[in-house]
Amino acid sequence: IIVPECVNSCSGFLKGAVNALANILEVRGLAKSFGHTSVLNNIDLDVQEGSVLCLIGASGSGKSTLLRCLNFLELKDSGTIRIRGEAIEAKTHNLNKIRQKMGMVFQHFYLFPHKTVLENVIEAPIQVKGKNKDDAVNEGNMLLEKVGLAEKADEYPSTLSGGQKQRVAIARALAMQPEIMLFDEPTSALDPELVGEVLETMKDLAREGMTMIVVTHEMGFAKEVADETMYMHNGEIIERNDSATFFASPKEERTKEFLSKVL
Ligand code: ADP
Ligand code: MG
Repeated sequence: IIVPECVNSCSGFLKGAVNALANILEVRGLAKSFGHTSVLNNIDLDVQEGSVLCLIGASGSGKSTLLRCLNFLELKDSGTIRIRGEAIEAKTHNLNKIRQKMGMVFQHFYLFPHKTVLENVIEAPIQVKGKNKDDAVNEGNMLLEKVGLAEKADEYPSTLSGGQKQRVAIARALAMQPEIMLFDEPTSALDPELVGEVLETMKDLAREGMTMIVVTHEMGFAKEVADETMYMHNGEIIERNDSATFFASPKEERTKEFLSKVL
């Protein structure tokens, strides 16, 4: 009798430990209001290391605010955000360090217009991380190669297409060696013919095992690339499932209604 009990409790404990290790991000009860407007309401979210989570939902449902709370561009009102098991609080943690763990890519690129493509990529590693210039340049060139823009290193952003700009923005985020990449509608500002090249770059990243949270209206990408897809409505997570099940048989009425409009 003693032996099976021990095995049980041990395996339970080990399972817990493995889960804790596998979840790079754990959010519990996250809430955020702007004035009297509640924008995020009791959000629970687990993200496994190396997985891709797509976040979909109508405009105004709180997707951007959620991403911004995750990397502390907005401060949550309540709830906990754990990274690798460690609860992160604005009071006790250096938020600049935390933000370095989370690369963020925005709809509107935000490249420095007066810097070349390579200078855009090496700026933060040198200024924020104190990397020496030669190393930063070597890594920057490698990252530009990775996003297919090695030959644009010395060009200025204004000479690039939107898709190329966004790939530079991705390289720039990667240059900080983030543990998680957050994408907020990275292709929404692009002409349709330029969307594919950015999604391909993101797919490559996913294949390499980067942990990614992607807010997107590209349902094809969510279906094909995301391990899980999550639907948000009015600041709440309505439904979350592995992407195949999510799209093949959504369970909640509100999810069905949303998907019927966008698919
Ligand atoms: P989504 O990205 O899904 O379109 P957002 O997170 O941008 O949604 O916005 C959710 C709600 O929060 C919206 O009603 C928006 O107007 C409001 N909101 C977002 N940021 C702010 C802010 N800084 N101040 C006040 N209201 C905001
Ligand atoms: Mg948004």
